[in-house]
Amino acid sequence: MEITEIQCQSILTRASGYLKPVCSHSINPYVGCGFGRSACGVGCYVRHNAWLTRGRDWGAFVDVKTNAPEIYLKTCDAEQRWAHRRGQPFAIFFSSSTEPWQPAEKQYRVTRRLLETMVTHPPDEMILQTHATAMRDDLDLVAALSQKCQLRVHVSIEGDTEHLPGLPPPPATVKDRVELLRQLSSAGIFAVACLSPLYPMQNPAVFFEQLAGAGVDAVVIDHFIEGDGTREGSRTWKTALPRSMEAVSAESTRLEYRDRIAAMARNYLPVGISASGFAGHYSSL
Ligand code: SF4
Repeated sequence: MEITEIQCQSILTRASGYLKPVCSHSINPYVGCGFGRSACGVGCYVRHNAWLTRGRDWGAFVDVKTNAPEIYLKTCDAEQRWAHRRGQPFAIFFSSSTEPWQPAEKQYRVTRRLLETMVTHPPDEMILQTHATAMRDDLDLVAALSQKCQLRVHVSIEGDTEHLPGLPPPPATVKDRVELLRQLSSAGIFAVACLSPLYPMQNPAVFFEQLAGAGVDAVVIDHFIEGDGTREGSRTWKTALPRSMEAVSAESTRLEYRDRIAAMARNYLPVGISASGFAGHYSSL
């Protein structure tokens, strides 16, 4: 793992592409991801971003934006005015191309320092997206921020399958991520389980009942088809993920599978689908 400390020129990126209906800005405290060689890294949508990786292997590098909080402080008011001039809330997706609580965060605390800055200079809305149960280290801070802005936490859980054949282990167990959702909910934070990308499921009814019992507010279901930035999922088809999924369930690599699972999930919780779900649009039975 090559870790490099860098100074960023900007930290609030104005949303484009699939993020445009979701938020006004994204924020990424790191470039690259220390979980890139775990299960989620195999199908990670970001690994295909050549501008970002600049030829480096996904999971082999992390650039640490050590000055991110200072740059946020300098630019947040202007970016908020920019969003408001367009008639939209200053809504931040944290993070769109990295993991805020990846292993490097234990040492560098860029995410924590950003959150501390945001408590005093909050956006209007924020989505915190994580695979990592180390978010617990900052639960008090996340709860404080949720008092200052409209905040929801998306915890990525691809389903109830712990390991797919041929893939490395995930950054955290399914059980531990459900437990994180439970803790978020108990702290009064809007908690969303993101099945993204959706894996083949063992027992969806039991799983969704378990999420509802944990106090989860909603579920987002996102398939790699349409979810990876291509209509047919062509980027992901080049990775090992679809073969691993098919080894468990042949139908799981078809978009109809997403819709079937979503219909089942609606018996238990409000459900959002792909980009519209990330934007916070849910439907119930
Ligand atoms: S934690 Fe997120 S950013 Fe990192 S490899 Fe997994 S999916 Fe990609």
